[in-house]
Amino acid sequence: MKKFENSKTNSFKIPPVHKILNLPVAQQLIDKYGHLIVVNAVRDILSKYRNNQKKKSYNNKIISYNDIIKLLKVRVSSETKDTLIPIFNLSGIILHSNFGRALLPKIALNKTVDVLRSNYNLEYDVQTGKRSDRENHIEKKLCSLIGAEAVTIVNNNAAAVMLILNTLARRKEVLISRGELIEIGGSFRLPDIMKSSDCILREIGTTNRTNLNDYEDAVKSKTGLIFKAYSSNFTISGYTKIVDEKDLVDLSQKTNLPFVIDLGSGSIIDLSKMGFKFESTPYDKLKLGVDLVTFSGDKLMGGPQCGIIAGRSDLIKKINKNAMKRAMRCDKYTIAALYSVLKIYQNPMKAINEIPTLRFLTRTKDEIREQAERIYNKIEPLFREQIKVRIVNCFSQMGSGALPNLSIPSVGIAFKHSDKKKNGLFPIKFAEKLRKLPTPIIGRINDSSLVLDLRCLEKETDLIRQLQSLKNR
Ligand SMILES: *Cc1c(COP(=O)(O)O)cnc(C)c1O
Repeated sequence: MKKFENSKTNSFKIPPVHKILNLPVAQQLIDKYGHLIVVNAVRDILSKYRNNQKKKSYNNKIISYNDIIKLLKVRVSSETKDTLIPIFNLSGIILHSNFGRALLPKIALNKTVDVLRSNYNLEYDVQTGKRSDRENHIEKKLCSLIGAEAVTIVNNNAAAVMLILNTLARRKEVLISRGELIEIGGSFRLPDIMKSSDCILREIGTTNRTNLNDYEDAVKSKTGLIFKAYSSNFTISGYTKIVDEKDLVDLSQKTNLPFVIDLGSGSIIDLSKMGFKFESTPYDKLKLGVDLVTFSGDKLMGGPQCGIIAGRSDLIKKINKNAMKRAMRCDKYTIAALYSVLKIYQNPMKAINEIPTLRFLTRTKDEIREQAERIYNKIEPLFREQIKVRIVNCFSQMGSGALPNLSIPSVGIAFKHSDKKKNGLFPIKFAEKLRKLPTPIIGRINDSSLVLDLRCLEKETDLIRQLQSLKNR
């Protein structure tokens, strides 16, 4: 083995970069990963040696080509590793913010791919040969689905809220109940959103109780709008009072102030008709006389990430004139995906099967149990010696702040150590093992078990294969 060593001084000489690059192993790495990444890695490794030499920490060590090559391989492989990888969401949370929330229906995916691959009439009127608006593809369909006069869309619901506030209440007071000053994940905090939108927050009532006269007393000449935000990720219970939305509609009409509701999640179809106890839809709110509603495209609606603003057309017109709108407008992928999702919704019965969010939500417990049994039969014998595998009842949730009070009965597979004494750390360790699989499996820890909630599982054979491969790890 060749060594870079000066035996007299017991220090070593660091080889030049090109010497390393000329080694056959380095050449192989270059062929596979490209010159740039390998050169940069070699430079970095050598400069680390140099620094260490200065600090004398390597004085008694000898470095060899082999040491360098070993480091180089590790370095190049970690830098070229896939970081965006699929996972199995068996957490029981249908819309998991960390896992990308709603999954797009196949039809919408195909359409989006095609729109990206070919030229489309995105902003072009084929009949007149003139420029048109990209939102034309969305507006009519969405308006008729949710009973709105007009709609507009932006990148996400946070943007939608900011755009409304900035357009309709800039430098004015926005009335909002103290119980609705929400923070949702990803640093969406209403007081900060108000500030960034150049609005003055005017808190109404108390945390647990707000009365209509609290609003009435607060209305002044500097009031810009009445705002309501759905507390999508928590509930207040006990001695509480909120003002009826119909009363706020009346107040807004009396005072000529817009009344806006940030729904967070908005369902296009009325799921309460399907036996789910659900909050009302954007359609219901607009029918009640709310001036504008906003909601996310990738929560209950099950579409692409976007923020939908719907309601009075005079207000939407103003919003579209705000320069911020241009900075927040949706790209063509979103337009294409949303367009297809809306087309699916035109036939609501089809929507339940086609749109993954709704398909997951409406899967019956019996159906999930049958799936659990199939999986159990294939994997239980492999684990039997050390791990107790069982089919268990569990509860799924909608997630992403949608329907926070709803526990949806589901079925899962639970893994537990057969030795009771070892139960303590087992679920944490087993969860870690599952995360290290080529396609990580994310479950949920429940007491001394790790539970895989099967509600959102579609790639059953892939999951079985991953679990079987654990045996050899
Ligand atoms: C989720 C949510 C938002 C933010 O929506 P994004 O689409 O994630 O930007 C805002 N308000 C409420 C009430 C929400 O639940």
